[in-house]
Amino acid sequence: VDFQKIIAVATKRGIFQPAFDAYGGLAGFLDYGPVGVRMRRRILEVWRKHYVINAGCLELDGALIGPEALFQASGHLGEFDDALVDCNECGKQFRADHLVENGEDMSRTDLAKAITNVVCPNCSSTLSEMSAFNLMFSTSVGAGKGTLGYLRPETAQSIFLAFPWLLRQNRGKLPFAGAQIGRSFRNEISPRQGPLRMREFTQMEVEHFFLPTNEPALSSELKNTKINLLPANGKERQITIGEAFDS
Ligand SMILES: [Zn+2]
Repeated sequence: VDFQKIIAVATKRGIFQPAFDAYGGLAGFLDYGPVGVRMRRRILEVWRKHYVINAGCLELDGALIGPEALFQASGHLGEFDDALVDCNECGKQFRADHLVENGEDMSRTDLAKAITNVVCPNCSSTLSEMSAFNLMFSTSVGAGKGTLGYLRPETAQSIFLAFPWLLRQNRGKLPFAGAQIGRSFRNEISPRQGPLRMREFTQMEVEHFFLPTNEPALSSELKNTKINLLPANGKERQITIGEAFDS
């Protein structure tokens, strides 16, 4: 796919454009134009009607900035990171899992071993040792030195955090589902052009809560419904929802 063409058409038709173009641009951020806003809103409305309203979910709109202690407790500060290598000659930076075959499926230890056999794709020089880069945007909350905070990297966490509150809203009864549509932020090392792998993006998410002893059963109609899944290896496969639950 030629993304330059897609971006040119999207810009011309008022769908979206790369943000901050007048100041040299900032990769991973988009502005939605008059047509794009309507398209986006329509998609969100259809999704919300089907998955939130008709399904009777409890809806949440969580805060976008969270305190450091939260992300320490959830493990985002220790684990929500990408493995990076630098070129010792030209200084370019790469995601290690992009330079190794099947790198995205490897453990960090295996990846660190495999990357020692790889040279810089740009200038063929040697690469640095692998280091970790956290994907969360940090910010300072309040005046002076302030308190360290982070922009949320996902919407799921707000729903989990609000679980006791939502449970009370549901009169203490399980099962129920919490839903949220909202923005999330990830400081991606290599954002793609156009609306793929953005640094600021919208997520639509539902989390179901039920007792393990009272697991909701799938109807036979749902069980036998065929869906196409696209696993991380990029090879699309068709399976039934029942098979997906069992695998
Ligand atoms: Zn290089």
